[in-house]
Amino acid sequence: MTAPERSLLFVFAHPDDESYGVAGTIARYSADRRTRVAVATMTRGEASRHLESLGITGEELGRRREAEVKAAVRVLGCDEHYQFGYPDSAMRHVDPRDVEADVRELIRKVDADVVVTFDITGISGHPDHHAVASAVTRAFVEEREREGGPARLAYYGVREEDIRNWKRFIHTMKPEHVDVCIDCRATLDLRELALQSHQSVIGDIERDGKDDGLRREEECYTLFQEPRDGRAGKTLDDLFADLPADRARSADP
Ligand SMILES: [Zn+2]
Repeated sequence: MTAPERSLLFVFAHPDDESYGVAGTIARYSADRRTRVAVATMTRGEASRHLESLGITGEELGRRREAEVKAAVRVLGCDEHYQFGYPDSAMRHVDPRDVEADVRELIRKVDADVVVTFDITGISGHPDHHAVASAVTRAFVEEREREGGPARLAYYGVREEDIRNWKRFIHTMKPEHVDVCIDCRATLDLRELALQSHQSVIGDIERDGKDDGLRREEECYTLFQEPRDGRAGKTLDDLFADLPADRARSADP
C-alpha cells in the first residue's frame, strides 16, 4: 500500500460546515492515495436552533451531531476526524490561545502541509467561524516557522457567481482573491450523501437543496500571504500546486 506523501487538514467550527462548504475538496483528495486527509470540527453544534423542535437536551444533540459529522466525513472517503468540544455559538467567549494551542497540536499530529479553514469573513459571518478562522491563522503562522511545518493556509470562500438562490446573508470573495478552484463535478453525489448524514439539521439542508442555493461545481480558495503576481494571476486547480519541492515527500521510509 502506498503511504501518503502529503497531508491536508481541514478545520471548521460546526458539524455540517464541512459538507456545506468543502465536501467536494475532501472527497477529491481522500480518493488520492498520495494525500492524508484529516477533518477537525471545533464544536459539537449543540446550540442549534433546531434544539427545541427536536425535544432533546443540548448534550444529546451534541452527541448526535458528532456522530453525524463523523458519518459525513466517512461518506466523503476520509476516516480521520477530530472532534473538539468548544461551546457552540459561544466561541467568542473562549480564550483564543486555547483554540490556537489545540490547532497547533493537531497540525503537528497530522503533519499537515496544507491547512484549510473558513475565509476570514466567516462566510456566513457566524462568530464561531470568525473565531476558528483567526485561531487557525495564528496557529499556522506559528507552525510554519517549524522545520517540516505547514507550507500553505487556504481560506475557503464563495464567489459571487456561485450564488444561485441562497436566502441567507453570505460574504463573497472578490474575483482577484480567488487563487485555487477545485473541480468538484465528479463528487456532487458524495456531497449530497454527506449532507444527508446531518439528520439533526435536515430541515436546513432540504431547504437549501430545494432552492439550489449555491453552485457547487467548483470550490474556491484564497491562499494566505501568497501574492498572485508570482504566477501571473493564474488560478490553480490543486491545493498542493506550486508548493516548495521539499514538501513532496518520498513515499519510501
Ligand atoms: Zn458553521
